[in-house]
Amino acid sequence: MCGIFGYTGPSNAQDILIEGLRRLEYRGYDSAGVVVHENGGTRCVKALGKIKNLSERVNEMPMEGTCGIAHTRWATHGVPSEANSHPHMDTDEKIFVVHNGIIENYQTLKKELQDRGIKFRSETDTEVIAHLLAQFYKGDLKAAVFRVIKVLRGAFAVAVIHKDEPGRIVAFRFGSPLVIGVSEKENLLSSDVSAMLVHTRSVIYLNDGELADIRPTGVQVFSPDSVEIKKAQQEIDWDISSAEKSGYEHYMLKEIFEQPTTIQNSIRGRIIEDTGNAKTRRPGKSEIRSAQS
Ligand code: GLU
Repeated sequence: MCGIFGYTGPSNAQDILIEGLRRLEYRGYDSAGVVVHENGGTRCVKALGKIKNLSERVNEMPMEGTCGIAHTRWATHGVPSEANSHPHMDTDEKIFVVHNGIIENYQTLKKELQDRGIKFRSETDTEVIAHLLAQFYKGDLKAAVFRVIKVLRGAFAVAVIHKDEPGRIVAFRFGSPLVIGVSEKENLLSSDVSAMLVHTRSVIYLNDGELADIRPTGVQVFSPDSVEIKKAQQEIDWDISSAEKSGYEHYMLKEIFEQPTTIQNSIRGRIIEDTGNAKTRRPGKSEIRSAQS
């Protein structure tokens, strides 16, 4: 389990992103990272350990951008290290990705990308997403994301930005939680609604396979077959402390009722439900080529 958070709007993104991560720290705390659009480029900062370490590092040279994505990690693939911490990026450092979940077929995808000459910087499953996006990108991040979704197997909530598309975040999910926070002046995304309630109480819950194109002035949601859909906004009337308890009266009740989901999340992507066996790793046919065609 990890936490992802994103912001695009008129305000400086740095403190909003770090504060969002602090509220998500219960989801993972072995390393953290943040990237913002800044002065026509991007700036990415990562730190091993708790959010406090990231915050100290960022404060050495404060960020200026008003759009960014951030991550607090609980490693599933690759040891806790700065190299394995998110955001992950493509070779040209134009595309940045934060991810909560597991890419089940990452070894097949990684092998194919390596065969195309791509060098990996980390041991994570997540890094394949950044390189795949670079393979498919032709000037529109959303279009590239739709292609990448076709080749990914597993459970994921992902947010991505591109250096050449300032102010834009594309986010999508399948199996892992992701909620979009909307308001007139700024928009956000988070793994957990409670982390964004200080900014807005109007939220959109994405269903599996849906994608959100998030800009400072609005959010568009698309179905898995790229058709724009009008999603109902929900108004959250819990206070922050109830939201952190997902509406339950006590944390213990929350933990008891969340046990089925917690167990599902921890074994997702690792078992074959029909036989009850654990999955083995084996190479597959070219999935990138079929999505490119
Ligand atoms: N699989 C990713 C990693 O290990 C994300 C981990 C998670 O969501 O728990 O970096």
